[in-house]
Amino acid sequence: MAEQEGSGLQVLLHTLQSSSDRASILTILQVLGDLLSVGTDRRICYMISKGGSEALLQTLVNTARTASPDYDILLPLFRLLAKVGLRDRKFGQKALELEALDVTLILARKNLSRSQNLLHCLWALRVFASSVTTGAMLGINGAMELLFKVIAPYTRKRTRIIRAATEVLAALLKSKSNSRRAVNRGYVTSLLRLHQDWHSHDMANTYVAIRRALLLCLRHIAALRSGREAFLAAQGMEILFSGAQNRLDDPGSEPVTCVVLQVLRQCSPRSPLPLAAASSAYAFPAAGNTPSGPSPALAEEDFEDDGDEGEDKDSDSEDAKEEDDDLETDVNKLSSKPGLDRPAEELTQYEAMCLELSCRFEELEPKPGDELGSEKTEYANHHHIPTTAPPKQRCSNKDQSSRGQGREDAVQTPLLSMVKRQRPSVHLASQTGPGGTPYEKAQSNGLGTDSSGSETVDIQALFREGAWDIDVTSCPRTSASVSNPARSRDPVQVMDELLQTHPQHIPFHDPCVYMAKARRTRSVADFKTAAFPDLWGHRPPPSPEPMLERKRGIQRIKILEDIRRFIQPSDVLNRVVFSLDEPGQDAASSGLRFSARFESGNLRKAIQVREFEYDLLVNTDVNSTQYQQWFNFQVSGMRAAVPYRFNIINCEKPNSQFNYGMQPTMYSVKEALLGRPTWKRTGYEICYYKNHYRESAAVTGGASRKCFYTLTFAVTFPHNEDVCYLAYHYPYTYTALMTHLDILEKSVNPNKVYFRQEVLCQTLGGNPCPLVTITAVPESASEDHLEQFRQRPYQVITARVHPGESNSSWVMKGALEFLVSSDPVARLLRENFIFKIIPMLNPDGVINGNHRCSLRGEDLNRQWLAPSAQLQPTIYHAKGLLHYLNSVGRSPAVFCDFHGHSQKKNVFLYGCSVKETLWQAGSAAGASALSEDVSYRTLPRILDKLAPAFTMSSCSFVVEKSRASTARVVVWREVGVSRSYTMESSYCGCNQGPYKGLQFGTRELEEMGAMFCLGLLILELKSVSCSRQLLTRAAALLNTEEDPLDCHLQRCRSGSITSELDDEPPCAEEIDYGPDSSSDQEGSASELDRQIREWASHEDEGEEEEEGPGQGRRAAS
Ligand SMILES: [Zn+2]
Repeated sequence: MAEQEGSGLQVLLHTLQSSSDRASILTILQVLGDLLSVGTDRRICYMISKGGSEALLQTLVNTARTASPDYDILLPLFRLLAKVGLRDRKFGQKALELEALDVTLILARKNLSRSQNLLHCLWALRVFASSVTTGAMLGINGAMELLFKVIAPYTRKRTRIIRAATEVLAALLKSKSNSRRAVNRGYVTSLLRLHQDWHSHDMANTYVAIRRALLLCLRHIAALRSGREAFLAAQGMEILFSGAQNRLDDPGSEPVTCVVLQVLRQCSPRSPLPLAAASSAYAFPAAGNTPSGPSPALAEEDFEDDGDEGEDKDSDSEDAKEEDDDLETDVNKLSSKPGLDRPAEELTQYEAMCLELSCRFEELEPKPGDELGSEKTEYANHHHIPTTAPPKQRCSNKDQSSRGQGREDAVQTPLLSMVKRQRPSVHLASQTGPGGTPYEKAQSNGLGTDSSGSETVDIQALFREGAWDIDVTSCPRTSASVSNPARSRDPVQVMDELLQTHPQHIPFHDPCVYMAKARRTRSVADFKTAAFPDLWGHRPPPSPEPMLERKRGIQRIKILEDIRRFIQPSDVLNRVVFSLDEPGQDAASSGLRFSARFESGNLRKAIQVREFEYDLLVNTDVNSTQYQQWFNFQVSGMRAAVPYRFNIINCEKPNSQFNYGMQPTMYSVKEALLGRPTWKRTGYEICYYKNHYRESAAVTGGASRKCFYTLTFAVTFPHNEDVCYLAYHYPYTYTALMTHLDILEKSVNPNKVYFRQEVLCQTLGGNPCPLVTITAVPESASEDHLEQFRQRPYQVITARVHPGESNSSWVMKGALEFLVSSDPVARLLRENFIFKIIPMLNPDGVINGNHRCSLRGEDLNRQWLAPSAQLQPTIYHAKGLLHYLNSVGRSPAVFCDFHGHSQKKNVFLYGCSVKETLWQAGSAAGASALSEDVSYRTLPRILDKLAPAFTMSSCSFVVEKSRASTARVVVWREVGVSRSYTMESSYCGCNQGPYKGLQFGTRELEEMGAMFCLGLLILELKSVSCSRQLLTRAAALLNTEEDPLDCHLQRCRSGSITSELDDEPPCAEEIDYGPDSSSDQEGSASELDRQIREWASHEDEGEEEEEGPGQGRRAAS
């Protein structure tokens, strides 16, 4: 059947191009027209495959070359050509070979005053021009000059023709040689004038298509440096800027405004970042050669424009990049287990880190009455996930009596009550109970008064004294008179006084312990002061905050504000108010004051742009020239209720969750002293887009230069003259961790909970990297109990190898607190596993405010293949510990490294599977020959059922070449842990499950950590090796506590397959811009189809009158 159709079509096409009989040609055109007017593109593609394009082009050439061309044939022929041509990728080439370009140009010239004929010729030219090579040829043959004879200033006549002509011109200018010709002939000025004319007259937006096409012409020309120069010389910025300003709120003008923005962004002069050097402001004399050498200073004169004067390139020849290039397809590499990366005898050193394997617990003699020894613990650990328990007055070494009381009052939230429900109704907020939270009550208070209305403390005086900038390095209890300002007073005394007047109770936090720990933290820049939020503590808000809804057109408004700096430079202050490189700048008289000289702080420079607008630059990682993303700084001197705009102008990632509902976080000292010590999501009018800054050529050594992105957000501060901290995400510092571990250790009953904190190794920066062991103390020192104790499987969890991923630390905090808690599930976990936890694999990076690297400027999660004890000590010893466990036959059941993800939502796992990798790479044969245990999928499936934030659909189990040296892949291949994972938590929040539409707070992240641990228990229950005793105990616990869990577990067993969640859809507004941006619809086949159809339906109406020769107004050229 198809064959018959095919041969029938071929006969038609053959007859068409060889016949000289007018009637049969007209009939065939009619038949073809009917054939293609219905059905889908597939029919057209079929015709193309049968030589349809060639036949039509040949007929065109035959007909056009006669002495008096027959337009009855030509017009339907042109319409067919347009339809077929836009779908034939080789159409331009075919037209060129059959010499159809010249005849069409000649026909167009002959028909300048005959509208219908001209319109049809233009449609054909439009199709020819969609191939860049053919477009260049048309340009050489004078097509642009011809078009400028047709394109007129604003008129209501022949607008269809003007539209078609501007669209052909825009297509032609995609060719760089045409653009160069346009610049040389002064077309930039003409196009600008034409656009201005149409723009100002077309108030009803009737001719948006013409205005847009004129702008697309300018956009293509602006891809050339000479084009941008001509545009600037012709006052293009000013003309387009004011035009866009006037029509900003006009939705009908939107397609035009969009392109105006692209042209303006493209033509804004590129400039180097306002920084003294591309390398970090902090240098660390690291051991060995640092991977990135010192980079030269930025110099204005070496800053050249983009090298974009390339050859004309036919877009047809561009191949889409193979997506799965990165997959490891070498079965040998996937399946073989490499040998040990160090001498076997070296592993014995890790024996000392596994004392639990040799401990005999001789002290464990049963003593009557010692059953519940929790009263002896110094801190309560009832709530593993912070609840909004009433604040308690407490400072370390004091108030012993109130401590026990606090524990009694603490609300216990059993983990099982928090597992994911089928109905998305459970929010943690509901657990705060009636009567409101202390937070809400406090909010009704005025500043400095408690609920009874009496003055609690002179907060203003505290602020004058700078009490929040507590010097944590000075020795405690030195001689100091009370009348001295806080800065010179004993910091411990200051803290005590603050705590007396501002009672706070934050579970597992203690400012006094913090201060003691802070003195031992070593930073490259030798930070002296602590960040107040870190010191004082953070209590999560009662409920997670919703994602920010993106204001329509917000990016456009912000970019126009940016561009206004070039156009109206007089109202730009450009005053440096803070700079790590030029420390003298800090003392600004008015306006905001900035600081980031504290742990995990990151801000390099602040420039006041306008009264309430600041450009901020973040520091690169130490000993690196890249990874600017993390920020965390202090700002003071603000006015309340005034919107301040902040622009972080040297961000590096090409897109960000800031475009998809995420907000940065803020902590207000005044709020904290009022009883609301909370990092909150804050900011509005947030967007993230490419800016006009480029890396200097001197830095890259001639390689392609880096672009930068702006994160902009507005903040309205709650109080006058407050001290606030703004950060990329909830900070979690090394000192906070060390404080936290100490308090956790003191909170446990040492007769029940085996909690050991030791040092894995020293970091390059001289900070101890902690290793924590958690399990249950054996019931007795009997041989049976000791045997059970030693046979418990290991679980190894690590986090925070990437310092900017503070979310992973909050997840870890949740896991740690849960594991030592009195929750029955936690007890079961301790009694059945030994947890080895390295909560912070990169302390130096965290301390010094890095985003990704160690002090050597290295991504430590790319060093697992061959770590060095000297250069990457934490990785070397973490891997050594795992090798040791493996060598004594105690490979962990699960290894998981906690991370944060900046581009995706939810929480998900990456695992390793040979089979899935081969499948994904299209090597199905290799995959099916292989047998693989699919148990690596069990834990993510369990978490998908349990944890509100977790989703299976974002999980992936392929092994990428580029990840060969990550913890996940190395622990899987070298240590042989089949369940080796990376757990990624979004910086933003969830787009599924009970938290859908909400941003993560620290509470949700901590809950994820606890859920992860519960997942480990259920994983064990499902394993064949699970002991009968554990099964019985767990069954009793899980069934009685919570019915839904059981049915979840049932569903786990059935193993339903979930569908993939897509990545973020393209942003409503273009983040990127430039010659390669593909957002415009100018090449769209359907648009031209529509025009032709529209023409056909109005053919008889004669809406546009014919004009005689010479009557049409001509474009200025
Ligand atoms: Zn990471």
